[in-house]
Amino acid sequence: MANPPKKAVVQNVIRTEGSATITFVSKSGPLHFSGGQYVIFNCGFIAEEGKEIKRAYSIFSSDDKQEEFQIRIQPLNGGFASRYIPNLAIGSELDFSGPWGKFIANPSWPKDGRILLVATDTGITAIISILQSNRWKDKFERTAILWFLSPADGFISVQEVLNLLPNTFHSLHILPISPIGDRLREKECLRAVTEELDSSVLPNNAFLAGDGKLIRMIRDVLFVRGLSEENVGLETFFHSMRESENVRP
Ligand SMILES: Cc1cc2nc3c(=O)[nH]c(=O)nc-3n(C[C@H](O)[C@H](O)[C@H](O)COP(=O)(O)OP(=O)(O)OC[C@H]3O[C@@H](n4cnc5c(N)ncnc54)[C@H](O)[C@@H]3O)c2cc1C
Repeated sequence: MANPPKKAVVQNVIRTEGSATITFVSKSGPLHFSGGQYVIFNCGFIAEEGKEIKRAYSIFSSDDKQEEFQIRIQPLNGGFASRYIPNLAIGSELDFSGPWGKFIANPSWPKDGRILLVATDTGITAIISILQSNRWKDKFERTAILWFLSPADGFISVQEVLNLLPNTFHSLHILPISPIGDRLREKECLRAVTEELDSSVLPNNAFLAGDGKLIRMIRDVLFVRGLSEENVGLETFFHSMRESENVRP
């Protein structure tokens, strides 16, 4: 039998022009999540095609706290959940499931050696949460982050990301990229990631989160350069395989 849904109450919402950070308190006890995992919220509505509207959000806050947690949402034009959840009143309750994300919670990953964390766009939520997690405290020195960021993206500022990362961490590389939908984006991403890999020691482990079109391409580059499949994890926030297949002519 399926597990009954968990419940979380909206405790606080902080809105900026391009984001909303929502603090929830679990009414179903501690989540038992590791930094980088995500939850799936059920908005409580049925879409036209008859399916419940459920959306995944990375837990943005540190796994130090397991009953109170934050997510950070980018409100999308025409999107349902990304506009609905940030507008919930304080005290509202939502059903959720999780934590999900087996790869990132696997205690035997990362293996020895260097670790590359790659974010595009909103994928930075998962990467921040990994860096803030308890199990990462002894891994900063061998970790580097690449963040593909469109200059006009108002989701989170570079300064805010720097403030959230530990003081001892100095390997955040910001790589400017054209906005989602721009035809130059994939080429720019490939060029930048190739340059980065050419100028540094090859990582042994990698985790990539964000735009599926870009992170699948980066994953393939890492495989060609010799990273083993079991040491590379992906979390596709949008442009999943299914969506990409749907838009093919
Ligand atoms: C594991 C996982 C973790 C995620 N974590 C976050 C998170 O921390 N913060 C967050 O804002 N979103 C996150 N997302 C995306 C989120 O689940 C929703 O897809 C998003 O909020 C849009 O939902 P919607 O109902 O508003 O729009 P929908 O109607 O579902 O989507 C509208 C369209 O926008 C596309 N889209 C979805 N996300 C983006 C995006 N970020 N940029 C551009 N286009 C997009 C969708 O592919 C779709 O084509 C995550 C997704 C996954 C799978």
